[in-house]
Amino acid sequence: MNKCALSVVVPCFNEEAVLEEFSGRMARACAAVTSDYEIIVVDDGSSDSTWSIIEKLTDGDPRFVGVRLFRNHGHQLAVTAGLSMTRGERVLLIDADLQDPPELLPAMVNVLDQGHDVVYGKRIARMGETPFKRFTASSFYRLLNRLSSVPIPEDTGDFRLMTRQVVDILNSMPERHRFIRGMVSWIGGRQVAFPYARDARYAGTTKYPLRKMVALALDAVTSFSTKPLRAAVWLGLLSSMFAFSILLYAIVQWAAGNVVPGWASSVATISFFSGTQLFVMGVFGEYLGRVVQEIKGRPLFTIGEIRQQQAAAGRIDD
Ligand code: UDP
Ligand code: MG
Repeated sequence: MNKCALSVVVPCFNEEAVLEEFSGRMARACAAVTSDYEIIVVDDGSSDSTWSIIEKLTDGDPRFVGVRLFRNHGHQLAVTAGLSMTRGERVLLIDADLQDPPELLPAMVNVLDQGHDVVYGKRIARMGETPFKRFTASSFYRLLNRLSSVPIPEDTGDFRLMTRQVVDILNSMPERHRFIRGMVSWIGGRQVAFPYARDARYAGTTKYPLRKMVALALDAVTSFSTKPLRAAVWLGLLSSMFAFSILLYAIVQWAAGNVVPGWASSVATISFFSGTQLFVMGVFGEYLGRVVQEIKGRPLFTIGEIRQQQAAAGRIDD
């Protein structure tokens, strides 16, 4: 495959409102680094005009590559699809909504070229994000780091610049529940934080509703820790000890001739323990469900179309 100096991977889900502005600013930032770059724009099953904007971009400039996924596979798999096609010696991951300023690229390249393997954006300020999102994000990362044996830096997203070597390793990791920022931490090498102020979304609304945030958090925890499984065992053990002591108490009361008063307490106890059991089974289920999906071994994403001008498309002959 033909190499190039720099690849940019941009996942897009219904980003018609930002894509034109983004592509202009991103192309200018790339040009400040090298003329030998490619911008891989992945359409993650959008239902708006995102793909027709991508068609226009690829028709107008051979350095744009459009990848249209057959359906919405989610942010992490859209990034995975883009990464699998990169040819660059350095690879930038960036969101389409301009929350991560493309103009930081030259400075990040400088840091990478000083002998680092990964330069990851660390948010020192977050504009236009609700206190709820900030609070849940920061508590989540604290929890994750307590659980995970691999330290995963706080206040980071997927905005990062990586060497070819790191991307090749990332591409070789077959798991389907992908928490990319954690997987990159797991790879190791010389990784350095790049502090930046995160802007507000340029236009449009977030494509990460609470449902997707919870799914990402569960993937992160189950991919990077099996401690919840052990915690489930302890919880089960503790609650059965508790139940046993209540039973003993009831027997003693009965032997002493005391009538056990009320149904309420027994109903409360029963529901408490069935709750605990369901919780423990739920934890097992989270892991088991993932095992089932890994065993199925389906492809991680389904590409419907790849679009790039022939002139620059070295990949087609290789
Ligand atoms: N995204 C995607 N597929 C999805 C959800 C999001 O490709 O199912 C993209 C989205 O277009 C954006 C990036 O992932 O480029 C981050 O999403 P967003 O900005 O909506 O998340 P937030 O910044 O609000 O966490
Ligand atoms: Mg965003």
